[in-house]
Amino acid sequence: MRILITGGAGFLGSHLCDRLINDGHEVVCLDNFFTGRKTNIAHLLGNPRFELIRHDIIDPIKIEVDQIYNLACPASPPHYQFNPIKTTKTSVMGAINCLGLAKRVKARVFQASTSEVYGDPAVHPQPESYWGNVNPIGKRSCYDEGKRCAETLFFDYHRENKVDIRVIRIFNTYGPRMLANDGRVVSNFIVQALKGEDLTVYGDGQQTRSFCYVDDLIEGFVRFMNQTQIVGPMNCGNPGEFTMLELAELTLKLVGGPSKIIHKSLPSDDPKQRKPDISLAKSVLKWEPQVPLEEGLRRTIAYFRGQV
Ligand code: NAD
Ligand code: UDP
Repeated sequence: MRILITGGAGFLGSHLCDRLINDGHEVVCLDNFFTGRKTNIAHLLGNPRFELIRHDIIDPIKIEVDQIYNLACPASPPHYQFNPIKTTKTSVMGAINCLGLAKRVKARVFQASTSEVYGDPAVHPQPESYWGNVNPIGKRSCYDEGKRCAETLFFDYHRENKVDIRVIRIFNTYGPRMLANDGRVVSNFIVQALKGEDLTVYGDGQQTRSFCYVDDLIEGFVRFMNQTQIVGPMNCGNPGEFTMLELAELTLKLVGGPSKIIHKSLPSDDPKQRKPDISLAKSVLKWEPQVPLEEGLRRTIAYFRGQV
């Protein structure tokens, strides 16, 4: 198949490019390089089945493809809050452009949605049936509401125009090729520990997240995209739940060095807890994460040792 990946030069997108090239497909990687990097896909540039397009997904694109993975959108809070209006445009207009393209060329289209659609969840763990608890006017809203609106568009194109959609809700994922200045917690802690700086835990560190290693997530993507039982939304993530203090302590144990843990103020609307209910993915895809947090952190630390 010829497969378009928007946001293909980013963290998740570049791993998906690798996977689909390895599976024998033609891959068209589209990116505006806001948070993506050419170095993430440089090793693919000589491959005759790989093509790179610099394009902003808020503008329409015409291209013949069989499948579309729509990943274009900054994912880290400092990056998506840098230009919040652009973030909403990317999610909403990006969804419209991907769906319009999918409709024209009859391609299956995949939306990288997020656990952020659940906001600061009042239900724990979060099943797909939970409608969420999202602040519509806060600093995270450009991302959360943009992604919620994108889901709405996907389901309306599906109902109205019979577009073949897949909507996945990704929970915190980490691994090699995250940016050192990404601002998300795993890369922050690892980079701080490697530099011998203190680890910045926001708030009291009792808030929880569930961390999925990138290879597990990409396996989930490909299985979900290529089955015909469900269109989603489907949670994808690792149900292991850790406090930020536990993550900081584990990172310090694995990296060693002189760093200590310090506390900084908690950003506004920071969700208190997050853990996916992955029963749907388990039953339909026969999928569940294989890489435990400690092992995934070791691999990610090895990557960052060469970077910082
Ligand atoms: P990332 O920032 O590394 O990748 C996003 C990519 O999209 C970058 O290459 C960036 O340059 C590109 N991009 C941004 N705006 C664009 C635009 N207007 N036009 C074209 N390209 C644009 O982030 P990531 O972690 O790889 O996330 C990929 C997708 O998965 C995002 O949609 C994100 O919301 C979603 N997601 C990720 C996580 C996670 O934990 N990594 C969790 C939930 C959802
Ligand atoms: N966090 C932290 N220190 C950091 C960066 C983040 O304690 O240096 C916390 C943050 O407040 C949040 C959690 O880690 O509670 C996950 O943050 P991240 O930005 O990685 O993702 P998200 O909040 O979108 O899940």
